[in-house]
Amino acid sequence: MQHELLGKNIEDVQRQNQISVLQVLRQQPGQLSRKQISSMLGLTPGTVTNIVRDLIDAGYVIENGYMAGKKGRRAVRLDINPGGFYVLGVRLSRASIVCRAFNPLGEALVTKTASIEDFEQTQEVLGCMLDLMQETADDLQSEQKLQAIGVSTPGPLNLREGKIAYLHGNVHWRDVPIQQIVYERFGVTTIIEHDANAAALGEFMFGTGYEQKDLLYVAVGRGIGAGVVLNGKIHHGSLGTAGLLGHISVNMNGPKCDCGGSGCLTNYSSSRAFVKRMEALGLGKGKISEFVAMANDGNKLVCSEVKANAQYVGVAVASAVNLLNPAVVVFGDEMTEFGSLWFDPLRETLLSRLAPEISRHLDVRLSSFGQESFLLGTGAIAIEHAFQNPLIKENQRS
Ligand SMILES: [Zn+2]
Repeated sequence: MQHELLGKNIEDVQRQNQISVLQVLRQQPGQLSRKQISSMLGLTPGTVTNIVRDLIDAGYVIENGYMAGKKGRRAVRLDINPGGFYVLGVRLSRASIVCRAFNPLGEALVTKTASIEDFEQTQEVLGCMLDLMQETADDLQSEQKLQAIGVSTPGPLNLREGKIAYLHGNVHWRDVPIQQIVYERFGVTTIIEHDANAAALGEFMFGTGYEQKDLLYVAVGRGIGAGVVLNGKIHHGSLGTAGLLGHISVNMNGPKCDCGGSGCLTNYSSSRAFVKRMEALGLGKGKISEFVAMANDGNKLVCSEVKANAQYVGVAVASAVNLLNPAVVVFGDEMTEFGSLWFDPLRETLLSRLAPEISRHLDVRLSSFGQESFLLGTGAIAIEHAFQNPLIKENQRS
């Protein structure tokens, strides 16, 4: 690739070193001194001292007590400064908008929610979102600086141009330049992300931490989507459409799908498909929560349909695991409300379709955050951006 052939000037190297120091401090909070950072990164002690001084001056890093050791010779412990800056994370969904201010450690500072009366009204929804973001920022009683904004939305998205390309079933949402709209109001870098990708990053950063670099997040809700984190980063694919797990075929002779394929998973296992199936079986129209209650009351028909629904997911995810070899697969969104009734047959189907060597090492779990994953992901995206692009004044000493 061309960029690998380009040389690097001293400023680039310095910047890369700053980012590396921030990264090790985030991975090992409260555990590192300047000396340890120097040996971990292979930098001279003098270089680390200079970098750390710049990072402290810019508000990214603080000195936080002393490392354990002999009195008098103890090294100063370094940490990320929780009060250094803040970011905003926004989840736009068809039913509501949630906005949260996060500190650099990903802790919630302020959360605001608005329900959307009519999602069709594009301008009203966007206006409501901007107002909610402003209220969140206004509520922060601090001098901290807003550094980045992450927004998750249903898609498909045009990531290159920062637009919502269209939304299934909503004719008014076409080519909505959401990134530009937010940027014009707040003047900081704004990153939009498909909601399953955002949730995947939320699970990665707040759930598994940094132990596992490769993670697959599967959202089984009204649609089915997957977020793929490879080597710590979201995998978007060449057009940005990676993760369309709902359109993996689980039956080549199955019903035709909108996408042009047939037997797509979404038509068997999404919560929308499940509700339709319940209606067709004469079990009434209802929300997932009502069917969860029926299943808990021992309704055999509901229980067996939940099981069948889950098994299809297991079949599709086994293909994804064979392809990507993630260390962890996390399941989230609406269908997880059925708990183990849904998750156990899913897990069993998934693991039974993998080679023993793969299944033995695969960590399969339900999201511990539920619907929060999406919002946490928006924070994760913005925080990641802030640490990859630290705002540090030109080094005066060099
Ligand atoms: Zn399809």
